[in-house]
Amino acid sequence: MSGTPSTPANPADSGDAAALKSFRTPIGTHDLAPPESGRWVALLGAFIAAADRAGFGYLQTPIFEDIGVFARIGEGTDVVGKEMYEFFDRSDRHLALRPECTASVCRAFAQHRPTTPWKVWYQGPFFRYEAPQAGRYRQFHQIGAETLGTDDPDADVEIIALAAEFFRAIGLQQVPLLVNSMGDLGTRVAYGEALSSYLQRRAGDVDPQDRDKIAHHPLRILDSKREATAAVAAEAPRITDYLTAATAAHFERVREGLDALGIDHEVEHKLVRGLDYYTRTTFEFRATSLDAAQDTICGGGRYNGLVEALGGPPTPGIGFALGIERLLLACDAEGVFEVPAQRAEVWVIDTAGGAAARDLTHELRAVGIRADRAFDDRSMRAQMRAADRSGAEIALIVGSDEVDAGTVTVRPLRRPDGGDVDTPQQTVPRAELLPTLRRIFDELNAEGVA
Ligand code: ATP
Ligand code: MG
Repeated sequence: MSGTPSTPANPADSGDAAALKSFRTPIGTHDLAPPESGRWVALLGAFIAAADRAGFGYLQTPIFEDIGVFARIGEGTDVVGKEMYEFFDRSDRHLALRPECTASVCRAFAQHRPTTPWKVWYQGPFFRYEAPQAGRYRQFHQIGAETLGTDDPDADVEIIALAAEFFRAIGLQQVPLLVNSMGDLGTRVAYGEALSSYLQRRAGDVDPQDRDKIAHHPLRILDSKREATAAVAAEAPRITDYLTAATAAHFERVREGLDALGIDHEVEHKLVRGLDYYTRTTFEFRATSLDAAQDTICGGGRYNGLVEALGGPPTPGIGFALGIERLLLACDAEGVFEVPAQRAEVWVIDTAGGAAARDLTHELRAVGIRADRAFDDRSMRAQMRAADRSGAEIALIVGSDEVDAGTVTVRPLRRPDGGDVDTPQQTVPRAELLPTLRRIFDELNAEGVA
């Protein structure tokens, strides 16, 4: 906290105009405003539809939790050790802003003990104290899904298919899927030994900034983005050579399922998660259109023991999280899923005081028509310009003549595809407005069909 006790918390409270200060979003955060936000809403809509079709229900957990919930992800991880926003509340509770959701989902499972399989999806803001750059922010947003309570490899296929189906729905294509298996505890112990002795042999070639991981978190060497380390990682022993018969069969069934569903994938041997909880399947979708430092748009995997660590019964789980901002960057790079036009269908022009605009927009919205108007009693010309800008297909004009006669003038402006119209303007009694609008909409739509 900066400022001396004599400085008011908010300069605006001081009453001193010279002290007024303008504020900006904190570093690493962004406002999301129209029209861009329309794209966000549409993106969520596409995910909601896919999740709903696949039987996943929405789970909303608190944005802050007891810090212990997230500590279970692994004290040694950057997410927990270096990037977490933690604080004490006014009653000295040690809390953290959520950096991810899997731990919260497992905490919720342990708390509520739902019947299994528990298939849930989530979305919202997450917080990590990282160096902000394109595709990396301090408040970012994820969509994710988790299936708890089954080991069935088909559940892995289902969860991967949900992500793939979502990408298909929004038109994203250049997002290859990489998969791997981390086996079970036995695999990790045997592999850990093999990897450690390999890394000790090659320690001199590992980037100095990664060297301390060799002793403490050898698995994390494999996903280092530093060039020298990556070269060492490329020649490292492969974890899939250490799978037990059961985990190899599980992995085989997952790959078979992906093939059966037509979901292309490749085995990436370096795709390991450096946490004790991860077992068996891991996967990532990487956007080839993005910079390699920020190209993972979706990461996921299977885990064991996290629910138990949070006070619940032994429960396996599998899930993924995808970064919305990064996903949209990938959409930009591919030129897909553009910002949707936010268009009125009907614009009400009222030069007789505004009561008709007030009442008609309300009436039209109630029957499902996107209707809007200008405020502040603007001139006919200004209102016409607003109607034009809105992209509306039809303008309704009410002047004093119309008010006296109880009528509305209906003027077609353009077809839904933006083309010109021949349909003439007509003045109709208020009672006939809706049927007239319906007829004109039909005509405008029909004209658009070649
Ligand atoms: P990275 O290796 O890029 O840091 P991560 O392994 O830390 O990613 P996860 O914890 O698996 O990421 O989170 C899932 C997804 O959330 C990532 O694939 C990415 O799309 C997104 N994500 C993670 N951190 C950020 C961030 N700081 N800003 C924006 N998106 C992020
Ligand atoms: Mg990260």
